[in-house]
Amino acid sequence: MTVALLGLPTDRNSSYLRGPAKAPAAIRRELFSESGNSYTETGLNLRGEGVLEDAGDAALHEDDGDVERITEAVAAQLGAGRRVVSLGGDHFVTFPILKAYAAAFPNISIVHFDAHPDMYPSFHGNPLSHASPFARILENGGIAALVQIGIRTMTPAQQRVAGEYGVRVFGAWELDAARAALPQGPVYVTLDLDGLDPAFAPGVSHREPGGLSVREVLELVRAIPGTVVGADVVEYNPDCDVAGMTATVAAKFAREFAARIYTDAQGRGA
Ligand code: MN
Ligand code: MN
Repeated sequence: MTVALLGLPTDRNSSYLRGPAKAPAAIRRELFSESGNSYTETGLNLRGEGVLEDAGDAALHEDDGDVERITEAVAAQLGAGRRVVSLGGDHFVTFPILKAYAAAFPNISIVHFDAHPDMYPSFHGNPLSHASPFARILENGGIAALVQIGIRTMTPAQQRVAGEYGVRVFGAWELDAARAALPQGPVYVTLDLDGLDPAFAPGVSHREPGGLSVREVLELVRAIPGTVVGADVVEYNPDCDVAGMTATVAAKFAREFAARIYTDAQGRGA
């Protein structure tokens, strides 16, 4: 079960700053840098035969047709028997990715790391806004559970959506409770890098202090009892970065997520 690495260079649905469209190339440079070896924390060699394959960037046009283009690009990988680690792009991309995943994995659950709930019914008049993907995902259906972790900017409009769909929302100060709520079954992990504290990941458009550490996110993902079948790392903005340190962090997560997905597919055969 090969894991495909898919770049999604888009940022037209960002509400504040552009920049994340440049992220896939920057993260790839770190991912394949000679600064480290190719083994993950769990001892998997990512350069091993059939472990990780770079599927390149999806051909996007920066228009509304990208919803279908992203869904098709992900569905093509899943249809070929691969699982996908996507590199955003802004957080809009998780909506079309989940369209493909919800079709392939009935009753999939989502573990979502972010400073923001991203559940606005619409933001600045844009229903595809990067502040709205989880409203679209919940409407689209097929999701067993949405667990949000690191949230520290909840608003009444989004709280209503959370209540309507039974979303489990955990602040950055509630990690023990979040750990206990991690789902069984097929699980998709989406990491908005602003869920981390800006001390660890300054290269984001919306810095929100008081966030998670790299280690905390890695350990929470390790603790997921279900089978991780896909993941994304989104919202890296190279224009806001400091000496490329956030690209290194994004690449670290892409590597460890790929290893978890590969190992789960081998060991648990889901
Ligand atoms: Mn965010
Ligand atoms: Mn987000």
